[in-house]
Amino acid sequence: MTLPVSLDEAVAALTAMPAAVPVAGGTDLMAAVNAGLLRPAALVGLGRINEIRGWQYQDGHALLGAGLTHARMGRPDFAALIPALAAAARAAGPPQIRNAGTLGGNIATAAPTGDALPVLAALEAMLVIVGPGEPGTAGSAGTSSREIPVSHLLAGRDMLRPGELIGFVRVPLLHAPQVFLKATGRTGPGRAVASVGLVLDPARRGVRCAIGAVAPMPLRPLEAEQWVASLIDWDGGRSLAPEALDAFGEYVAAACVPDQGEPVPPGVLHLRRTVAVLARRALGRALTS
Ligand SMILES: Cc1cc2nc3c(=O)[nH]c(=O)nc-3n(C[C@H](O)[C@H](O)[C@H](O)COP(=O)(O)OP(=O)(O)OC[C@H]3O[C@@H](n4cnc5c(N)ncnc54)[C@H](O)[C@@H]3O)c2cc1C
Repeated sequence: MTLPVSLDEAVAALTAMPAAVPVAGGTDLMAAVNAGLLRPAALVGLGRINEIRGWQYQDGHALLGAGLTHARMGRPDFAALIPALAAAARAAGPPQIRNAGTLGGNIATAAPTGDALPVLAALEAMLVIVGPGEPGTAGSAGTSSREIPVSHLLAGRDMLRPGELIGFVRVPLLHAPQVFLKATGRTGPGRAVASVGLVLDPARRGVRCAIGAVAPMPLRPLEAEQWVASLIDWDGGRSLAPEALDAFGEYVAAACVPDQGEPVPPGVLHLRRTVAVLARRALGRALTS
C-alpha cells in the first residue's frame, strides 16, 4: 500500500497506478474486500494526509477535510459549528467504525444509509475534488481542483474521474438550529431505515430538509420546504402551530415515499409514517432550540 502525506502525492500515486484504489478508514472498502466483492490491484492510503484531517474557515463557510473521522466530527467543538453533521457522525455505527470511518468515505461510498448524506444535502454542501492537472491551474503543483454540489456526485451526474479524490467539503455556516434524526427500526446503533437532516437558514428565510435511506440518494421535498418556510414568523418567535408541524411531516412523507399503487403496501405505509414523524420532530426541535 502506498501512503502519501499530501493530496498532491495521493493524486500522483493514483495517476501513476490507474488500477489503484484510495482507502481512508477502510470500514466500507475492507468489508467489500473481505466479502470477496472487490480485489483492488493496489491501495493508496489517505490516512497520513494531515491537510484533510481537520477544517478551516473560509468566507462564511467551513472547509472540512475529507479525512475527518466520525469520532472527530462528533466532538463538542465541531458540534458547535455544524450541529446536524455532528449528530449524524455520532449516530454512524459503533465506536470502532466512528474512530476509523471518514466523511470522504461516507460520501464516496454513497450508500443510501450514509448518515452524513442527508445533512450535506440539506446544507447544499459543495465538494472540492482534486485531481491530476496542469501545474498552475486551480490546484497546487501537478494537481487541479473543481467544485461540484454533493447532490451531483450522489445522483451520479458527476463521477470521480481517474486520479481524482474528494479533498474537502465546503459547508455554509448558518448560525441557526439544525437537526439530524435517524430511525433504525431497532434499539441501539444500526443503519438508518429513514433519516432526516433539517437546517434553518434565517438569512434566506428558508427551511431545508433532506430525507435519507428511503431512496438511492437523499431526497429534498422542495415544495414542503417552501410551504412551511412561508408560515414561519422569521422576525418573531419562529413558532409554528402543532397542526402545521403535522402537516409538514405528512407533506414531506408523501413527497419522499410515493404510494406505489392501491392498496398501498403496509411496508410503504409504515415507512411513510416513520418519515412523517422524523420530519415533524426535526422541524419542531429546530424551531424550539
Ligand atoms: C459495522 C459497520 C457499521 C456501519 N454503520 C454505519 C452507520 O450507521 N452510518 C453510516 O453512515 N455508515 C456506516 N457504516 C459505513 C462506513 O463506516 C461509513 O460509510 C464510513 O464513513 C466510510 O468511511 P471510510 O473512511 O472507512 O471509507 P473507506 O472504506 O476507506 O472507503 C470507502 C470508499 O470511498 C472511497 N474513498 C474514501 N475516501 C475517499 C476520498 N477522499 N476521495 C475519493 N474516494 C474516497 C474508497 O475508495 C472506497 O471506494 C458502517 C460500516 C460498518 C462496517
